[in-house]
Amino acid sequence: MTARTLFLLPGDGIGPEAMTEVRKIVAFMNDAMDAGFVTDEGLVGGSAYDAHGAAISEADMEKAMTADAVLFGAVGGPKWDDVPYDVRPEAGLLRLRKDLELYANLRPAICYPALASASSLKPELVEGLDILIVRELTGGVYFGEPKTITDLGNGQKRAIDTQVYDTYEIERISAIAFELARTRNNRVCSMEKRNVMKSGVLWNQVVTALHKDKYSDVKLDHMLADAGGMQLVRAPKQFDVIVTDNLFGDMLSDVAAMLTGSLGMLPSASLGSPDAKTGKRKALYEPVHGSAPDISGKGIANPIAMIASFAMCLRYSFNMITEADNLEKAIATVLDNGIRTGDIMAEGCRQVGTAEMGDAILAEFKALSA
Ligand code: NAD
Repeated sequence: MTARTLFLLPGDGIGPEAMTEVRKIVAFMNDAMDAGFVTDEGLVGGSAYDAHGAAISEADMEKAMTADAVLFGAVGGPKWDDVPYDVRPEAGLLRLRKDLELYANLRPAICYPALASASSLKPELVEGLDILIVRELTGGVYFGEPKTITDLGNGQKRAIDTQVYDTYEIERISAIAFELARTRNNRVCSMEKRNVMKSGVLWNQVVTALHKDKYSDVKLDHMLADAGGMQLVRAPKQFDVIVTDNLFGDMLSDVAAMLTGSLGMLPSASLGSPDAKTGKRKALYEPVHGSAPDISGKGIANPIAMIASFAMCLRYSFNMITEADNLEKAIATVLDNGIRTGDIMAEGCRQVGTAEMGDAILAEFKALSA
């Protein structure tokens, strides 16, 4: 069997603690399922700065470029607050996203039944929620030029950010959304602001044309992004896949995230284009949370976001659908059994640390894989 190469970048703070729990799952899959994962490991963020004076070394960048998938923990912490801007910990993540050309950010918002009461919405609105936000990650207003602040000389300044999208950028992100919808409930809702933005008009036209041309079997709706925000908190279960631009996606994915409870539960994937020869997409998987310096080193971090990110990796990089389903089921079962880390602790549940939560999920995963 061809090796499946994983490049692990645990990073700083709770990143390495959470990654340890993924390593246990990888080892089990290699031993018991002959999964053929070959792992290598590097430094990113503050730990890379301490070792190399850069947020990621060229050698590690090279490994990230050639691996089938990169698993990323978290970066940053007060120790590196004053390092020069271009080598700050986040620069490592931004470099990875840019050089790997990861233009599609996938943020699932899944509400495990056992955690429905922890949401800020009524449990019946979120219980069983399973939506996927597909956000364009490398274009739009965060990158468009001109991007300036000009002194107007009369005591006033003018700030300009530019929202730019070309047809191909909209096509490739919506193609991912349509393809993912086919593996789920076959519905896509595209969100933009075509009522006030030219980029919204083009977005709407391109998504509509691509749908007609290649994906007419998928149900497509369009919604203005502000109305989409409202609908996400009014009736989130109406959505399956949402596709939107960089700016709206940034906000809407955070709104959707909070429907599900804790930061410690949220995985993400960032995907690039399929390779012309191999068909494999470059991919990076990471929890949404940061390095959590307030709890780092205490062994109490919730590893679920990191483990669920690995489940996304199984699904999207290796097409190991049964294994991904089983790992996600294992997480749900452990939560159903009342096992909780401190961040999701509830009355009547049993509080555990990072390793015990990882072990409990692995035990369920083993049972489901038997
Ligand atoms: P954070 O996500 O690290 O933490 C926010 C709060 O959530 C903290 O109270 C933390 O203890 C808690 N939390 C987060 N993840 C948790 C987990 N898995 N289990 C239990 N509790 C968890 O965000 P922050 O405090 O704003 O940032 C801390 C550092 O992380 C900063 O240096 C920031 O720049 C960096 N950061 C990195 C990333 C990344 O690597 N992708 C993302 C966000 C923030």
